[in-house]
Order: sequence, then C-alpha cells, then structure tokens
Amino acid sequence: MNEETIEALAEFLNCGVSVSSADIPEPLIGTECVEKRVEPPIRCPGSGCNADVHRYFDVDSEDVAYDVICKNGCEHEVTLEEATSYRFQPAPTLAMIAFHLGLTPGEGEWVDEQLPRYAEGTTDDGINLCLIVDPHKYGDTIRDILFDAVDRHRPTALITPHESAEEVIEIAESYPLGSLVTPLPVELLSERDAVEELIAASRDALEMEELVFDQRGLNDEGLARKLSQRPRLIEAQLTYIRVLREDPTNQYHLGEQMETVCKAAFMTLDCRLLPEFGGTESRGTRIPDLAFQLPYHSDEEKPRELPETLAIVDAKSGSDADFENEDIIGKHREYIRYAKEQEVYNSYDLTHVFVVFDIDRYNEIDWFDGIKSVYRKNTGMVVLYADALLLLVRAAQSPAVRNQVNLGEGAFEDFIRPFFQKRLFTDEDAYPHVATMTRFDHVNEPTERQEEYKRDYLRRRGLLVVTAEMVRRRLGDIVDQEGIEPVLSQYDNR
Ligand SMILES: [Zn+2]
Repeated sequence: MNEETIEALAEFLNCGVSVSSADIPEPLIGTECVEKRVEPPIRCPGSGCNADVHRYFDVDSEDVAYDVICKNGCEHEVTLEEATSYRFQPAPTLAMIAFHLGLTPGEGEWVDEQLPRYAEGTTDDGINLCLIVDPHKYGDTIRDILFDAVDRHRPTALITPHESAEEVIEIAESYPLGSLVTPLPVELLSERDAVEELIAASRDALEMEELVFDQRGLNDEGLARKLSQRPRLIEAQLTYIRVLREDPTNQYHLGEQMETVCKAAFMTLDCRLLPEFGGTESRGTRIPDLAFQLPYHSDEEKPRELPETLAIVDAKSGSDADFENEDIIGKHREYIRYAKEQEVYNSYDLTHVFVVFDIDRYNEIDWFDGIKSVYRKNTGMVVLYADALLLLVRAAQSPAVRNQVNLGEGAFEDFIRPFFQKRLFTDEDAYPHVATMTRFDHVNEPTERQEEYKRDYLRRRGLLVVTAEMVRRRLGDIVDQEGIEPVLSQYDNR
C-alpha cells in the first residue's frame, strides 16, 4: 500500500462502506479494497418520488444501463455511472494492511454484517486488526472493540478513518488496557516503522507475561488473565504519546504529558523522585524537570559496594531526539552544573538520562562527546528507549514477573540498576548476554557505518543506550535461570 492508497482509503471510509462512482477516490479503483457493482436502483430516481422500483430492463447502450419503472409508475433512464457503486471489501483490505505492516494475514470478516460497524481480522502473528467503518456509532464501536480486546486479552490495532486518534484515546483511558490496544488513524499507516514498533511493543508486553506464566505453570489457572487486566495507565499513556506525536495536527502538550508519564514510570520502578529538582515551580528556570535517586537495596547483610545514584532525566516526546540543537546542549550543561552544585549528592554517581522514542542516525555519540566535558567524575549518560522503559514498568507492575525477578536477582532494584550504569551493564560475568549489546545488534548485515558506530559506542565507557531488546533479554535470562525451581518451591512452602 502506498501513501496515495492509504489516504484514499481514509477518505473512502469516512463516507461509509459504499459510495457512488462520482465519490470513489481515484487511487482505490482497481484495488482489492473495493468491489465495483452495477445494479439498478432500489428506489425511484425521480425527484420527490421515493417509491420502490417495480421493474427494470437492461439497456445495451454505452451510457444508459437500465430503464426503471417505479411503483408510482414513473419511468426513468439510469446511466451506467448512476448505476455504478463501489463497496468496501473488509477481508482483502485487512489482508493488505496486514501485509503492509509486515504481518501474516489470517481470517477477516465484518462485525455486524447487515450494518457493518467494523471489519476484524486476526493475523497469524496473533495481532487483531479492527478497522472502523461506521462513522455513526463511533463511540459505541470503539467501546466494543476495547471491551473485546480486554476480554479476550489479545493485542489489537484499532484502526480509525478519523484523522486523529484522540477520541479513541479519550475512551480508552477508562479501560485497563496497558499497551494491549494500539489506536491508529488510517493515515498513520504510511508511517510504517512507527506502526510496526507500536504493534511489536504490544505483542512483546503480552509475550513477556506469558513466558513467565508458562514458567510458573500458571497458565491453566486463569490467573494470567486476572493479573493482566490490572489498570496499566502508564503503559497506555506511553503508547498514546507514541501515536499522537506522529500526528502533527495534534501535539497536545505532548512534552508535559511525556514528563508526567515518565515520572509515574520511574516511580513504578521504585525510583525516589526528587521534588527539589523539578515540578511546575521550577518551570522556566534551568533546572531539570525530573530527577530521581535509583532505588537502593537497604539489606544490611549485603555489602554496600555500590554508590548511590542521582539521575537527571530529560523525557523527549518529539520525533527523532534532537541532540544537535545548541540551545538544548546549553540547557543540559546547566542541569549538570546545577546537580554538581548540590552538595548533598556529592558522593553520588550521576546519571544523565534521556528517554527517547528513537535516535536520529548516530547522534547520541556526538552528543555525548559534546557534553562530557561538563560531567564530573562518575557521571554517565543513558539513552533509554521509551519501549524499554515500558517493558521495565511492565515487569515492575506484573506481580508474577516481579516475583520472578526478585527470586532471580535478589531484589527488583538490582535488576533495574544496570540499565542506568554502564559500569554494571558491561560486566560480562554478571550479564553475559547483554554486556556488549548495541542498538544495532538485530541488524543481520550491518553497514560499515553501523559497524563503525558499534566500535565508537563500545569504546565510550560513559555512554549507555538501552533498547527494549536488552531488557527483554535480561528478563529472559532471569526466567530461564537454572536452579530457580528449588528457590521457587522453598518460597511457596513458606
Ligand atoms: Zn417514481
């Protein structure tokens, strides 16, 4: 599907499921999205007469298709153009969308066939695609889809022909969805990378949970579903911001929203927020909006070999994180200076965190090089992908996952900490599967430039880029860990 087809599809669906030949957007003609039909009218085409058509005759001419006679006795010629309409085809359209998103199409069908409200298709990848077509009962249809997603616990892409997903999000906010449902305006389908990422995030969340449930043998008890339906507004919000930021007409306080969500997210991870560093009162002055102390394990028996850590956070809601803007560099230098001035934190390690949705090219390296001169000793930079943060939140919020992490690591904070300290993260004895990972490790045949990036990145000991894959791998290590069973049974017998 190209951009033209996608736009045309949105235009078409905003009018309903069937349009006349005068109204069909050109790029859709000849595609599988619509079926062309030539049929006599059901009602009398005469103005003012609304009687049923009683009889009709095929006319074999270039322009005229039918002669029709209505029950009131009027006679009319119906041109071929008038007799032609285009009707939306749900199954092939959903298949096209699935292909477009790199998914494998499965069955597709109408919901409420007589007065179709939305088309639904399940891909072989386990993602449910729902495409709203009825512009009238919009709110009700959205509610039905959301309810169904929660009920069946299935990752769902809710595709709307409306320009913005705002209405969907307003309704969705009252459902315990987490990232189970991804609201998508049809037109956003042309931003394929963004959409694929969103859908992958939704699937990951589910898979991660299932992995743990399987390990603990909880799947049969129906507990999985109960635990999964807990409210997860943080996750939902991160997903929404990801959607909304692709929509240039709707940037509704995204920056502030992102900041609020990140605050909630770090709190979920037991990080202690430091109000003296942020909050609304500080707006306009050059102190960071968000700062926290990494959770610290207070177990007396454990040797306190790790220093406390202060994190200064910048949550970037914008598209590609703009690391090159001079103003931003200036701003961050001041944040760091401010943090260095706080004597209370003198003995702390300092972590300069950026939460981003993506990184433009290889920018984080230049940015790190540019700002490192103002760092004091024991300062590191962490670029944390939002979907990685989301997975951490997910792990923290799921009792089963959290329990597993506690059993594997001793404490949840010990699981969190390496993601904020490269020194720990790169300890190959402790974390053999992630220690040397880079954000390009998934690329099968990396370009020369990517190889160069990897070398440059690994050489910079103060720079850590954390992707969702790294979090996933750590969780996988913990869940698969051998010898966890005895610990588990001991725990259960307590
Ligand atoms: Zn008539």
